[in-house]
Amino acid sequence: MNKVYKKKYYDTVQIIKRAGLSVTEPRCLLLSFLHKKKYPLTIQKIANGLKNHKINQVTIYRIIDIFKHAGVVREINLHGERSRYEIADSKHNRHHIVCTRCHKLENFIGCDYQKLKKNALNRSRYFSKITGHSFELYGLCNKCMKTLSTFQ
Ligand SMILES: [Zn+2]
Ligand SMILES: [Zn+2]
Repeated sequence: MNKVYKKKYYDTVQIIKRAGLSVTEPRCLLLSFLHKKKYPLTIQKIANGLKNHKINQVTIYRIIDIFKHAGVVREINLHGERSRYEIADSKHNRHHIVCTRCHKLENFIGCDYQKLKKNALNRSRYFSKITGHSFELYGLCNKCMKTLSTFQ
């Protein structure tokens, strides 16, 4: 990887290194793409976004798989939908409210992570360390609420 890339994708390079993975250009491009996105994306959407960089879908699948196992990205599974992926940062700005009907997503801020973590560890028989979390709330978006109420 050349110097210009290393500088441009500095944060991403650090994340990949910290995960103990080797730093390659496609990995950096993919991760910085996810970093910029507020919402989790399907493989297809990621492939579309990286089209100009000539990274094909097979490569994306492979990188996502490696990232997933290294805890760099998180897989989000919504009912009956294709898996979506997002960067697994430790901030709390990637929690979602999901519409159970149309799968619309909205981020929400504020989860009592420290308290939840403590409670979970206190009650756990098999874990002594929590390293991350993902948080989804489910509901009905305004549009779906409206549609449903006109049916009744
Ligand atoms: Zn949180
Ligand atoms: Zn909806």
